Amino acid sequence: MTAIDISTKYPPVRNYIGGEFVDGNGINYLDVTNPADGSVISRVPLSPASEVDRAAQAAKKAFPGWSSLPIKERVQVFFRYKTLLEKHIDELSALITEENGKVDSEARAEILKSAELTEFACSLPQITAGEVLEVSRGVECRVERFPVGIVASITPFNFPNMVPNWTIPNAIALGNCMILKPSEQVPLSAGRIAELLREAGLPEGVLNIVHGGQETVEAICDHLDIEGITFVGSTRVAKIVYRRGTANLKRVLALGGAKNHLIVMPDAEPEMTSSNVVASMSGCAGQRCMAASVMVSVGNTDHIINRMVSIMRGVKTGPVISKEAKQRIESSITEAEKAGAKVLVDGRGREGPGFWVGPTLIDYVTPDMRIAQEEVFGPVMVIIRTKDVDDALRVQKRSRYGNAASVFTESGGVARYVMENASAGMVGVNVGVPVPREPFSFGGWNESKFGVGDITGRGSIEFWTKSKKMTTKWNKEAGVNWMS
Ligand code: NAD
Repeated sequence: MTAIDISTKYPPVRNYIGGEFVDGNGINYLDVTNPADGSVISRVPLSPASEVDRAAQAAKKAFPGWSSLPIKERVQVFFRYKTLLEKHIDELSALITEENGKVDSEARAEILKSAELTEFACSLPQITAGEVLEVSRGVECRVERFPVGIVASITPFNFPNMVPNWTIPNAIALGNCMILKPSEQVPLSAGRIAELLREAGLPEGVLNIVHGGQETVEAICDHLDIEGITFVGSTRVAKIVYRRGTANLKRVLALGGAKNHLIVMPDAEPEMTSSNVVASMSGCAGQRCMAASVMVSVGNTDHIINRMVSIMRGVKTGPVISKEAKQRIESSITEAEKAGAKVLVDGRGREGPGFWVGPTLIDYVTPDMRIAQEEVFGPVMVIIRTKDVDDALRVQKRSRYGNAASVFTESGGVARYVMENASAGMVGVNVGVPVPREPFSFGGWNESKFGVGDITGRGSIEFWTKSKKMTTKWNKEAGVNWMS
């Protein structure tokens, strides 16, 4: 679509470049849809390479001033931003619900998490204070961190506010200037982030937003002035961005999709286990990269599965993101059923308007079935039955992904064994969603992450900075040696 021909609740989304919201004249637009009722609430521009260049020039102009401020001064913006996130939580969470569909409590949790991420950025002066050592008489080595330069952050639809805040506060507090490319499915929250940061005193050009899809992302990967890129989204696109960005000699950290396993032992506490497992698979309608989608049952856990069935029947989830997502999720359930699995709770066939799929539990899935290996990204959990914990770990390790894995058990020995042996970057014990909280870092293994480092917490500091190693000697009596 090229023309903005019908009026919508929100005006067409605009790019944010050099501290101003700007129209991208003459470029194509996509509908932004409220998934709860299918209504079109705005339109988003599909920006061409020239818009990415405009944003890069604005970032380049801002970089000398911003990067030369002491970090203690830069983080003052984020102290104010955190307060603004908290002050505006009602409005920000309502906007998330409108464009993404998640229910109010989930949307609020997202803003609280954004505030926590910002709080971490405020602590960066303390955390990044340099290293210094007298390495030989009178000779001192020290390490200082410098920003990478102009960086870009490409984000997915499932956390319109939180995932942009995985990167914005840390990258910018560490002195970089950023181009954010939000998901074209949920572009509205990003505009509010820019407004709040402007209100908090962020100078123009330090954060820029360019909306769009594939063409925009490719332009980011190819742009000569962009030095670093983070990506969060599906594994298919993570590979594209990682390959294209690194081929252009940029540092890239690309987080991909997931298939998270919960290993449930027969001794697991039934009430806590059943409610946590259901909350993990159904929260945000299963559209979380940390959502559990495979329950690996060890031995007989029918008493837990029965409880899960009854909890799941009462769970209210939001819609899934789009008509295509609903079709994809429902057809993967149907395919598993045809392959011989047993649907215990069936979320298919919910009528519109909007894109609804209820929580779904599928038993007697085998590791060979497509639904056991591919990411469904909806409120669907499969149960794979195994005889012992080693068998369960074999199932987990067969996955090409490696974001999260958890074990539910009362045995410390089994818990430790699974934590050590699961092939995943984030593991948990009796926790359905083992998200590391700040200051710990977020990042998976295998095809859930490409590149070195993590995207949040301490693990992100190395990615967003370059270290400079400085050696100094002021005293001539230190003598002459091989370092002179
Ligand atoms: P997606 O990969 O479709 O889109 C992510 C971003 O890539 C968007 O900004 C989109 O515009 C862009 N994009 C899409 N197709 C492209 C292409 N061909 N070339 C270049 N860019 C392209 O992901 P999504 O559907 O928005 O989000 C859901 C996925 O994100 C799931 O796979 C989920 O597991 C994953 N995810 C992972 C994490 C993590 O931390 N590992 C976190 C959140 C979401």
